[in-house]
Amino acid sequence: MLNLLDYDPASLEALFSQWGEKPFRARQLLRWIHQLGERDVLAMTDLAKTLRARLAAEAGVELPRVRKDSCAPDGTRKWLLDVGASNAVETVLIPEGDRRTLCISSQAGCALECAFCSTGRQGFNRNLSTAEIIGQLWWANHRLAEETGLAVHSDRRVVTNVVMMGMGEPLANFDNVVAALRLMIDDRAYGLSRRRVTVSTAGLVSGIDRLREACPVALAVSLHAPNDALRDKLVPINKKWPIDALLAACLRYLDKAPRDFITFEYVLLKDVNDSPEHARELVSRLSDVPCKVNLIPFNPFEGAGFERSSREAIARFKDILMRASLITTVRRTRGDGIDAACGQLAGQVQDKTKRRLRREAEATS
Ligand code: SAH
Repeated sequence: MLNLLDYDPASLEALFSQWGEKPFRARQLLRWIHQLGERDVLAMTDLAKTLRARLAAEAGVELPRVRKDSCAPDGTRKWLLDVGASNAVETVLIPEGDRRTLCISSQAGCALECAFCSTGRQGFNRNLSTAEIIGQLWWANHRLAEETGLAVHSDRRVVTNVVMMGMGEPLANFDNVVAALRLMIDDRAYGLSRRRVTVSTAGLVSGIDRLREACPVALAVSLHAPNDALRDKLVPINKKWPIDALLAACLRYLDKAPRDFITFEYVLLKDVNDSPEHARELVSRLSDVPCKVNLIPFNPFEGAGFERSSREAIARFKDILMRASLITTVRRTRGDGIDAACGQLAGQVQDKTKRRLRREAEATS
């Protein structure tokens, strides 16, 4: 069975051309599935009967199942989606004024092992398929359209922004993430502006370069440290692509990016990376890159081994950046009470990397 959610606009046109169908059939089908939320191909009344019959025989719209739906007092909503074989991933909707941002997962777990991230602690199982990635947006849109009367694709749309900041490293699942991005920005499907779709990466330089060519959208980079010695410890992929190489890739990306700056994320960890010296070093490091800095107060989880910086330390850090003319924001913690904040998404991951065993062995040796 083909899952029609796995197809981006170009691959759907290619499938239809193999079937001897006209390209505009792809537009009709995308609209039914993504804008109208129709899962039953037989109900797609403007498709020819023969095409409907073929679709019914060979294809379907297969969505991940929702296992749990939680809502925090601040309106943040979290869905736990079953992706089979005892793996589940999380999707978070963050309402803020007229904006409704969906935070989407790209992998079951994550292979990168950033020191302060709970997804990283859980290990890695597999990449999500395009259907499982776009299915998160499909689900949030259609569930909320029912509840609120908003539409999927209009001036009053349900999900207004997407951030690839859920579980996983999006650029490590490149092809499926790009296919999903193409659906997000295509007018025949979700029609979001490239500026309202953000990929966040721990710093995969080759992936940043490929994304620039394949589907440039807004880019956020998880920097978290102003020098390689510290970043090697916090974000181990830094050993492969150190800060200079990463910042050079950011500059190359800006040639094609829909926004004229890169967002740098910087999680503030008490007594680890939050001193005035770190702030000054960061300022000098970023002096050549048009950017904004988003400071993220650390969100604790059990056994993390890190603490959130004090309010004073956060204010002082921000102040040093601002005085150096770096546009700096502090990310508001959302989703308290349902573990929906950055770095707290854990879902359920059947670890294939034996990471937990290795950590335990290291701890006892
Ligand atoms: N793998 C991608 C996207 C995932 S996470 C990336 O690394 O960018 C989104 C952001 O949350 C990243 O900047 C990540 O470093 C940060 N984060 C991870 N754990 C966190 C925690 N416990 N508290 C605050 N932010 C965290």
